[in-house]
Amino acid sequence: MTFSYSAAEIKAKQVLDDCGLTEPNELTIPNIILGRKAFYEELPLEGKEGEIVSVDDRSIITVNSNIQYEPKKRFAAAHELGHYELHRSLKPIFSDTDESLMNWYKTGSHETEANEFAAEFLMPSELFYKECKGKKFEPKVIDHLASRFEVSKTAAILKFVKRGNHPVFVVYCKNNKMKWYKRSHDFYYQPLFQYNVNPPSGSVAYEIASGKKAYFGDEARQEIWKSDWFVMRDDDEADTKFYEYCMHSPTYGYTLSVVWER
Ligand SMILES: [Zn+2]
Repeated sequence: MTFSYSAAEIKAKQVLDDCGLTEPNELTIPNIILGRKAFYEELPLEGKEGEIVSVDDRSIITVNSNIQYEPKKRFAAAHELGHYELHRSLKPIFSDTDESLMNWYKTGSHETEANEFAAEFLMPSELFYKECKGKKFEPKVIDHLASRFEVSKTAAILKFVKRGNHPVFVVYCKNNKMKWYKRSHDFYYQPLFQYNVNPPSGSVAYEIASGKKAYFGDEARQEIWKSDWFVMRDDDEADTKFYEYCMHSPTYGYTLSVVWER
């Protein structure tokens, strides 16, 4: 499989190479950061998950010690490493909230670049694709990828859209309002998407965010109709079955849905 890489992803591959790593979890991210000649510390931060301050030739990366979930801490540290490798000469301070770590929509923005860097650094595309190959897509595949690469399911899903082996559509809602979506290159249906509007009422994202339902374990994957999420060709098109797997973070008030054709 040959992929085309963004500049941020190419940088991540270079840094892995420079560190002599084929497996991103051979070393801890703090050790890698120190090896790249930046400082790393964990301190309680208010209202942010990570930051980097660069003065002259010195950079200090701080990650919020209150982050309980280790995969998230790893992602935050890799995101700051991305700013260090890509942006430290352009801007002396980056302060990252949970929002910046979920910023996947403004192509070319510093935040999206740092996320692309982190995603490639923690889940190298070739290894990622190899892990998916030959597996039929279902939520368990995401669980497997998340534990294999020590990342959150959210991070694994976002990588899957780009480098997975099955066409999927992913939509991010915050406080029950649609914010952005992404599609695999071979997912062709047009979503019913309007920025800052409630997700469609037949969607699982809507059911969950409006507090009508919660799904767990084997129920995580729900059957829906194509017309729940996508534009139909015309009135005569027969509706077909799709699946939606919706992850919900009550703490941060967001949902991330993965939708695919049955
Ligand atoms: Zn950032």
